[in-house]
Amino acid sequence: MPVRGLTDAIEARGLRFAPPRGGDAGRGIGEYGGILAAGCREAERTARERLRPFVATMERRRARDAERLYTYFTSLAGELAGGGRRDRSAAITGERLAAIRREYERKVLDLGHRYRLRARLAPLAVARVMIPVLRGTYLFQWRTAERHVAVVWDPVLSALEPIACDSCGAGEWMLTVGTDLAMRCGPCQSRAAAEAGG
Ligand SMILES: [Zn+2]
Repeated sequence: MPVRGLTDAIEARGLRFAPPRGGDAGRGIGEYGGILAAGCREAERTARERLRPFVATMERRRARDAERLYTYFTSLAGELAGGGRRDRSAAITGERLAAIRREYERKVLDLGHRYRLRARLAPLAVARVMIPVLRGTYLFQWRTAERHVAVVWDPVLSALEPIACDSCGAGEWMLTVGTDLAMRCGPCQSRAAAEAGG
């Protein structure tokens, strides 16, 4: 991940933090708003990715518990229906079966609540890093439209920075440029294509 890589690299090299002169004057809130939104999306994506093994384990346990409930209540209902005493009327058996079904449904609902996962992410800080970089430009043209896209070689990372997807803001190496000259990552491109097709 480019952002974490940059932070690590800066810390490892003991680079000093120097606030810009004049504070943040001249910076539109829209720009920060966009950065924050992209950061939030990235944080959510990362959280999902890191939680995946945990969620998989949880899903297995949930499936196992659901199976147990099903087996238990099925056998309970089976006993009642099959091994019923002669003196018991069909009405009483029906009532008891309905009670068993209600209890089973309640337990299944409970299971859903017990295995519900809620993750809350809170932003801690935003670091604005100002470093000299090597900058190149791609020029894309389609008919009369054209677009310049900056390519940045980062001396701290000693690498090219990924380019941000226009739709979701994720940094990517493989982007698709559409006839509208928008650059989209794989998932966003698939979504855009599906929306255009459907
Ligand atoms: Zn995207």
